[in-house]
Amino acid sequence: MRSVEEHQRRVAELIRAPKPVRLPLGQALGRVLAEDITAQIPLPSFDNSAMDGYAARAEDLAGASEQHPVVLPVAADIPAGSPATFALAPQSVHRIMTGACLPPGADAILPFESTDRGAEFVRAHAPAKPGAHIRRAGEDLRRGERALAAGARLRAPQIGLIAALGFAEVAVFAPLQVLVLSTGSELTAPGQPLERGRIYESNSPMLAAAVEETGAVAHRLRFVPDSVAAFHARIGQALAELGEVDLILTSGGVSAGEYEVVKQAFAEGQTEFGQVEFVSVAMQPGKPQGCGVYSPARRAHAESAPPTAGAATALVALPGNPVSAQVSFEVFLREPLAAAMGHPRPRRQVLRLPLAEPVPRSPAGKRQFLRGVLAQDRSSVSPFGPPGSHFLRSMALSDCLVDIPAGTTSLPEGAEVDVWDLG
Ligand code: AMP
Ligand code: MG
Repeated sequence: MRSVEEHQRRVAELIRAPKPVRLPLGQALGRVLAEDITAQIPLPSFDNSAMDGYAARAEDLAGASEQHPVVLPVAADIPAGSPATFALAPQSVHRIMTGACLPPGADAILPFESTDRGAEFVRAHAPAKPGAHIRRAGEDLRRGERALAAGARLRAPQIGLIAALGFAEVAVFAPLQVLVLSTGSELTAPGQPLERGRIYESNSPMLAAAVEETGAVAHRLRFVPDSVAAFHARIGQALAELGEVDLILTSGGVSAGEYEVVKQAFAEGQTEFGQVEFVSVAMQPGKPQGCGVYSPARRAHAESAPPTAGAATALVALPGNPVSAQVSFEVFLREPLAAAMGHPRPRRQVLRLPLAEPVPRSPAGKRQFLRGVLAQDRSSVSPFGPPGSHFLRSMALSDCLVDIPAGTTSLPEGAEVDVWDLG
């Protein structure tokens, strides 16, 4: 059997970094910066008022108090957006609003709260220190200074900063394009009536969601029956419609049964569709896995088309059991997809925590990933639900995976384990 670590390496090698693209800022949420953002203007870009009030010379307000107010003429009004080119003469003030440009000659802002808010003349009830309530040009960022480094993930605050610097577009890593295809003649689309012996298809919505959580784009093909011809036709048709994708992600049809469509589609000695290897990985759940390259000599939907030389697409084949598929995605795909798109922390956070309950048995020679629930204070972890790969509810109610090493067959309460925080 292949080790988990070896299969992780094989899958990771297949995932290539996408090219940087320039996107309008409004489409950049969640993407990762492909280049540094350097301030082309200082922030703030000019000295301005932090308060609604009066721009003044601090020395003109010396000694002002409730008992002895200083009365000065209001020589100009400066709303936000005004260029404020008119200089402040000694022994006068300009009324100024928050964010408005400081007039030449002013060195302090007297807030409305310290005045009678007069329009022609103002009574100042308090002095103002030089520099009071003034936001200085460049105090946040100087021109030419690095605002954000390549690799930063763009969330609301970063998008706000980039916009404030005047950029309408940003260079980000393009999202990887992933084709998600489920296989199985028993599958029925949710929303349709369910016939006896059939089940609702849940892997493609789940895997598409997992793909999109990494920032990649999922193209969901729904599913094909257990027919090699249908499998190749569906992929060929999808690629003809979509153009190239970065990864084909299948589920089902890779284990030891009679109708293993993905395995049969790339059977040994039949390399016209590419090279995909199927292996047993020493883990539970998720033992049967496949990975390789889809590179058809010609697209299955167009028999007459010339061979599409060089068109090779990474293909990862996950097992069909819903929990196996989900855990396999976590173990083999999440990190390489996120890393390829430049994410600064592509791995799930791994906590080292004591078990709140024992693990009575774990299969010898296999790394086991148990569904788990973190204690409220995150100081311990409890394995949760039975280990079977069809228990979807316990997967949905868990918030972590408990990683039991291959050489371990049981663990007492209190033993420390690695816990993958799925939060
Ligand atoms: P397979 O790996 O194709 O042998 O499937 C293993 C188990 O997972 C079977 O019980 C399948 O019915 C189930 N299964 C496979 N694919 C899906 C899917 N897309 N959605 C829900 N269950 C699935
Ligand atoms: Mg199947």
